[in-house]
Amino acid sequence: MRQSNLFLTTLREAPAEAETISHQLLLRAGYIRQLAAGVYTYMPLGRRVLRKLERIVREEMDGAGAQEVLMPALQPAELWKESERYEVYGKELMKLQDRHEREFVLGPTHEEVVTALVRGEISSYRRLPLTVYQIQSKFRDERRPRSGLLRGREFLMKDAYSFDTGWEGLDLAYEQMYQAYGRIFERCGLKYRAVQANAGAIGGKGQNHEFMALSEIGEDTVAVCTSCDYAANLEQAEVRGKSVTPKRDFSGNAVPVKFHTPNQKTIQQLEQESGIKPQEIIKTLIYTNGNTVFAVLVRGDHEVNELKVQKYMGGGEITLAEYELVQQAAGVESGYVGPAGLSLTVLVDQAVAGMAEGITGAGEKDYHLRGVIPGRDFPLENVGDFRNAAAGDACPECGSGQLEFHQGIEVGHVFKLGTVYSEKLGANFLDTAGRSQPMVMGCYGIGISRLLSSVAEQNHDDEGLIWPSSIAPFAVHILLMSAKDEAQREAAEALYIQLTSFGIETLLDDRDERAGVKFKDAGLIGIPVALVVGKGSAEGKLEYMDRRAGTKEVIDIEEAVARVRGI
Ligand code: ATP
Ligand code: MG
Repeated sequence: MRQSNLFLTTLREAPAEAETISHQLLLRAGYIRQLAAGVYTYMPLGRRVLRKLERIVREEMDGAGAQEVLMPALQPAELWKESERYEVYGKELMKLQDRHEREFVLGPTHEEVVTALVRGEISSYRRLPLTVYQIQSKFRDERRPRSGLLRGREFLMKDAYSFDTGWEGLDLAYEQMYQAYGRIFERCGLKYRAVQANAGAIGGKGQNHEFMALSEIGEDTVAVCTSCDYAANLEQAEVRGKSVTPKRDFSGNAVPVKFHTPNQKTIQQLEQESGIKPQEIIKTLIYTNGNTVFAVLVRGDHEVNELKVQKYMGGGEITLAEYELVQQAAGVESGYVGPAGLSLTVLVDQAVAGMAEGITGAGEKDYHLRGVIPGRDFPLENVGDFRNAAAGDACPECGSGQLEFHQGIEVGHVFKLGTVYSEKLGANFLDTAGRSQPMVMGCYGIGISRLLSSVAEQNHDDEGLIWPSSIAPFAVHILLMSAKDEAQREAAEALYIQLTSFGIETLLDDRDERAGVKFKDAGLIGIPVALVVGKGSAEGKLEYMDRRAGTKEVIDIEEAVARVRGI
C-alpha cells in the first residue's frame, strides 16, 4: 500500500475525552474514529488489525472443532421473554420496534438465538456434541461507554456456544475452549491471566473463567497467589477461614464502655480523631435485598464483598440501605450503627467472629462502644466469608502463598451454562434410551475490539503504538526520505515491489513530506519494522529500524530484505 493513497489522517493531539493511552493513540494514529459515544468506525489501519485478530480467533476456533455461523443482530423480543431475560437484562438491552410495532432487540449476546436455532435443528444424541461460533457486532447500551473500544456500545465479539448430551461432554468442550483461548491471547502478544470468575448475570451454576489482560487501567481486580497458580477475580476470591469456636463463658469480661466520638462517622475519622486502628473496629453495614433488611459486620480494614453476601442471602440483588431505612432499622445514622441490640439478621464475617473484642457504633449519635465481644454482644449465628480478599491474605488454594492484586481488562470469558437456557427454551434431545433431555450448554466470548485496544494498551512508548508482528496492520514500513530525489524514489519503489512480491505486507511512505513528519507518523502508527531509504540508497544501503527494540542499523538493502523475510 502506498501511503499517498491511504485513507489516514494522524492527529498531533488526542481529543480531550480520550483518557487512556490506547484510546488516545488509536485516535491519533488514525486507527479509529468516533461516531457517537461508544460507537466507532475502524479506519483502514484499524480494520487491518481487526482482521488479523479475527483470523487468529477463527484459526483457533476451527482448530478446536467449532463451526462458524453468522446469526442475526436483530432478534425478536419474544425469544428474550421466553428466556426471561427481557426485563432482567436491564437498560443495557437495546430495544426497538418494527413498522408493525413488533418488538425487537439488538443482540447484546446470542444465547437465546443459538438455543432456539439448535432446538429446531437437532433432536437426537447422535447429532451432539456441537459447538458453533460467530464473529459479529454486539449492542449494549452501557451506562458508561469508556476508553474507546474498551467499553463500546457497538462492539465486535466472538461468541461460541457448545451443546452436549451431559456434563462430561461440557467439561471437555470447556477445556478445549480454555486451551484455545490461551493460544489466541498468546498469538496476539497479550500479557494475560486466566482467573476464576463469578457467574454474574448470564446465569447458570457452572464454573467459569475470565481471561484478563493485565493493565493498570483495568476495571477488574484479580487476586493472584505468589506461590501456586491460583488466580481469581476479586469478586470471587475466597478468604481462607480459621474455624472459630465461639466462647461461651464471658463472666470474667467487662461490659462494653461507651465513649464520645462526635463527627467520627468513618473509619478514617475514628483513626484521625481518636487514634483507633482500623483493625480494632467492627464495621456495621445495613443492607436490603428488597424484602429483608439485614446487617453485615466486617473488620474496619476490610471491605464487604457484596456478591458473597448476595449468595448467602439467596441470590437477589442487594443494596446498601439509604439514610431513611438505616434510621428506621437501627435507630441512628449509619456512622453510629452497632450490632449490639440490633433486631435484624446479622451476617458476621469470619475475621470479626475471630476477634476477642472490638469497637463498634453505640447505636446512639456521636458515640461508639469499646470492648464489644462477638458471641456475647451480638449473635454468631450467621458467620461466613463476607469480605473481599486483601493483599497479603493466605492463598485459599495452597495456604502457603499470599495473595497479591493486579488490575485486569476482561478480554474473554468461558462459561459452563448447563441447562439454564435449554430448559427455558426447550432445547431437548432424545438420549440413547429414547428419553427427552435438555442439552447441556457452554458459552465462550472474546471481545475482539476490546482485545485490540488491550494489546494497544500494553504495547506503546512515547512515540506511539508498537504492534506485535502477528497483528500489525503491515509488517514493514518503508520510509522514503525525499520523494523528490529520483534515485531514492527508485530504490524505495524497487524495494516495495520486491517485498510485496514475497507476500510481505508493506506500507510505503511515498508522500511528499518532510522526513521529520514521516518519522513521527511511523512512530505513532507502530509498524514493527521501518526501512529508511535515504541518501545511502545510492550505495545500496538503508537504515533498518526495529520499532520495539528502538534500534537503528545501516545495512545493505539485500540484507534488509532477507531479514524481513526471516520474520
Ligand atoms: P464487563 O464486565 O466488562 O461488562 P461482561 O461480563 O458484560 O463484561 P460478557 O457478557 O462476558 O462481558 O461478554 C463477553 C466478552 O465481550 C467480554 O469478555 C469482553 O471481552 C467483551 N465485552 C463485553 N462488553 C463489552 C463492551 N461494552 N465493549 C467491548 N467489549 C465488551
Ligand atoms: Mg457488561
